[in-house]
Amino acid sequence: MLAWDDSAPARARAGNEGIDVGDLDKQDWSGFESFVLSPGVPLTHPKPHWTVVKARAAGVEIIGDLELFCRERAATTPESPFIAITGTNGKSTTTALTAHLLSEAGIDVQLGGNIGTPVLELMPPSYDRIHVIEVSSFQIDLAPSLNPTVGALINLSPDHIDRHGSMENYAAVKARLIDASTMALVGVDDRSCWEIGKAREDKSGRDATRFTCPVSIHRRLRRGVFADGTKIVSTLHDGAGKVIGDTSGISTLRGAHNVQNAAFATGIMHLWRFPLETIAEGLRTFPGLPHRMQEVGRIGHVAFINDSKATNADAAEKALLSFEDIFWIAGGQMKEGGITPLTPHLSRVRKAYLIGTAASDFARTLGENNIDFMICRTLDAALSSATTDAHGCDAKQPVVLLSPACASYDQFANYEVRGDAFRTLVTSLVVATRNDGHERHRGSQEKSS
Ligand code: ADP
Repeated sequence: MLAWDDSAPARARAGNEGIDVGDLDKQDWSGFESFVLSPGVPLTHPKPHWTVVKARAAGVEIIGDLELFCRERAATTPESPFIAITGTNGKSTTTALTAHLLSEAGIDVQLGGNIGTPVLELMPPSYDRIHVIEVSSFQIDLAPSLNPTVGALINLSPDHIDRHGSMENYAAVKARLIDASTMALVGVDDRSCWEIGKAREDKSGRDATRFTCPVSIHRRLRRGVFADGTKIVSTLHDGAGKVIGDTSGISTLRGAHNVQNAAFATGIMHLWRFPLETIAEGLRTFPGLPHRMQEVGRIGHVAFINDSKATNADAAEKALLSFEDIFWIAGGQMKEGGITPLTPHLSRVRKAYLIGTAASDFARTLGENNIDFMICRTLDAALSSATTDAHGCDAKQPVVLLSPACASYDQFANYEVRGDAFRTLVTSLVVATRNDGHERHRGSQEKSS
């Protein structure tokens, strides 16, 4: 076995750990059985990585870690429960929520893949545990024998087209997961997903072993799982419809997009006939994922929300739609199009506090839409001004929202570091406010005694 990394320091580190790092450029590739590619390395677009070219020329199969997992499962426990979740948006939330619901039901769950722990570092497949795996299109590309018990495709919108060449190719990769699943849940609210679900249903016909469950948050379905406001309704086992979940009042599942994520997670639970009370309890106790509309503190009636994962306008839109009276911290390293797509929702913004290199571009868009803003440059300056304004306002439930609509790289190592910095600053504010309150309380006691 040989390992390789294009980065010389990474190769040196691997070498120090006893991993055999051979110069792949000088090897005789015809002696290799398989080439296991890391999912971030281009297989096709924008152009195949040089190692891919070599593997192809030598006729060596190219696979990923998920394929190794699937082969192990096929060889040891071919029918062991394995849920694979994909989509353009909401993969991590849906995967984490599904795993949480199952674990609340007392199941031995292994959660990982594209989220958290890589699939090969999890406990091995077994008949008495369920693997809940987030899969990206890159990973599907590299897993020809992927055949989950349940496959879920949440939604599809143009993303990673650079890697897949076209929307058709991107959709075709996601369709492979759905095709290969024993049971499938497919979102039907966007055209590409709807087509994938329809093709599967046409192909499966009356084959009861290949069940397809359509999922919608926009319309009622005669047979499927759909949203009615925050309620999730199933017409799978009963045409009249049964409420199988409700995200109302659950702060970790705010917004219509989270109703979509919850519809998939509860849909899976319902397909496996877990009790409704277990599902309800699991929804209620879902801790949420960090950096995705995560409440990180509260001072009086002002809530502080960390949505640092919103690195583009599309993601920030979900947060703007989830709150009213927003004191919005935005900016960073701007993505194409800036915040122009958010124009229809800017009326929810009481004032914006702009940071990073995108500040002047964002200021222009906000100014054109008559939204009050302030250029703060840094996160702590933005938080300080936003907190003062939110406390002084007349709104019932003001929120100070970090939803940058930008990459973080101009000021932070990544979105997680940016979110953590926000959380730390908020925590200090909360503690300072509490101490201040104690001081004042003590002061007034001393005076009155
Ligand atoms: P992914 O793993 O696919 O990147 P996440 O669950 O990590 O998705 O969510 C990332 C961001 O994507 C969230 O902060 C939110 O803005 C947005 N998002 C989450 N779920 C959905 C959804 N179902 N539809 C559209 N956008 C979503």
